[in-house]
Amino acid sequence: MQKLEELYQWQEARLKKKKLEKKIKNLPEKYELAQRESEAQAVETEHEKGREMVAELSRELKRKEDQAAKVENQRKNYEKKLYQGETQTAKELEQLQMKVTQIQKEEARLEEEILEAMMHLDEAREEEEKTAEKLKNERNRNEAVKKEYEGEKEELEKEVVGLEKEISRLEEVVEDPLKQKCLALAERTGLRGVVPVEGSSCGGCKVGLSAYILEQVKGGKEIVTCESCSRMLFLSSK
Ligand SMILES: [Zn+2]
Repeated sequence: MQKLEELYQWQEARLKKKKLEKKIKNLPEKYELAQRESEAQAVETEHEKGREMVAELSRELKRKEDQAAKVENQRKNYEKKLYQGETQTAKELEQLQMKVTQIQKEEARLEEEILEAMMHLDEAREEEEKTAEKLKNERNRNEAVKKEYEGEKEELEKEVVGLEKEISRLEEVVEDPLKQKCLALAERTGLRGVVPVEGSSCGGCKVGLSAYILEQVKGGKEIVTCESCSRMLFLSSK
């Protein structure tokens, strides 16, 4: 009695294992991991730019405020001189007055620039916060997807380990020449070298089997192959 049923189980376990391994290999693509990561990185770059912008505008505002403080001091000094009225000619007074007026103009200009800089800074901060939020959401979503991916991968890998055990077990049960024959037939005919009889047809090519062949398969004494596709045939006990 040839152990064709076990040979068939061995073949099926190997095919299933191959299929699962392919599925595992394609998992990162299925979950679009690389694409998600590059999208998150793009948002991160955007966020980094936003932060730089905020820092730059903060520095600019500080520069203008320092400048305004400096100019205010200058004006106060001139005003002090002007109102102390120490030994000053009318011409000197006039010059001092002119300087004060000039500085006041500059102060007004700086004031306007400061307001504008504050506005820009506020806008940049708002934008930066938005991008930070977007980045957080993106990262969280990717984390969840990655977890899902790892969960599925783990399941599939467990299944592969189970199949490997099954394959090793059957490896012991079926003799090598039969396995070699099966592999050679599979190579020639497609996926399978051994197939069950389905009704009165070949389970591989689906062609009807002659009564003689069917009788021989039932006898189970020797290896019978399909006249049409050459695959080995057996009667499934299930
Ligand atoms: Zn066939």
